[in-house]
Amino acid sequence: MNIVLMGLPGAGKGTQADRIVEKYDIPHISTGDMFRAAIKDGTELGLKAKSFMDNGALVPDEVTIGIVRERLSKEDCKEGFLLDGFPRTVPQAEALESLLADLGKGIEHVVNIQVEQDELIARLTGRWICRECGTAYHTVFNPPQVAGLCDKDGTELYQREDDKPETVTKRLEVNMKQTQPLLDFYESKSVLTNINGQQDIQQVFADIDALLKGGRG
Ligand code: AMP
Repeated sequence: MNIVLMGLPGAGKGTQADRIVEKYDIPHISTGDMFRAAIKDGTELGLKAKSFMDNGALVPDEVTIGIVRERLSKEDCKEGFLLDGFPRTVPQAEALESLLADLGKGIEHVVNIQVEQDELIARLTGRWICRECGTAYHTVFNPPQVAGLCDKDGTELYQREDDKPETVTKRLEVNMKQTQPLLDFYESKSVLTNINGQQDIQQVFADIDALLKGGRG
């Protein structure tokens, strides 16, 4: 079960990723999470990624492909994995294809969660995240039980630098420009399925689950 989960920022990738990896028992590999962890830990990778992320720009392919290659060769990816936030560019998709071929693997499903731009802007500017466990909430669509605190561990929530209104429009522009060629790439390989992301969270997951259960696209 080798899956790529796609969707513009705010489409609900994180929420659906949590459900998929729980149900199918595969690791969730989010390049954004890996970069944020590296920044938090003050590693060399974190230093390289930080300025790009703070500006709503993509981290250079050589850096990103390197960390994904390393991660996918780990033992826990043997039975499958869910990639979230990678690939973001056609060169990354090509690199992924060749590094998976080296491991005797391929991508079975590319799941693209589709949401309109106005809806994305409304969602992104209301997103708050737990400092401790990374769970995402939304002030309107998915509020925590106690305002400002995580339901799971009670930790204070924060707004990501790149979810602030001034950065959101830039992020969407960068992403839309980069994403279309990638969708075309996977469409041409007959592994792409579009899922309507403007339904409620359960229904979006039900659609994805039906696809994954049903085998290839
Ligand atoms: P995300 O959490 O997926 O929205 O990613 C947050 C930020 O991390 C992005 O805005 C990029 O700066 C960086 N990033 C995450 N994944 C990638 C990727 N595949 N290629 C380049 N940059 C990435």
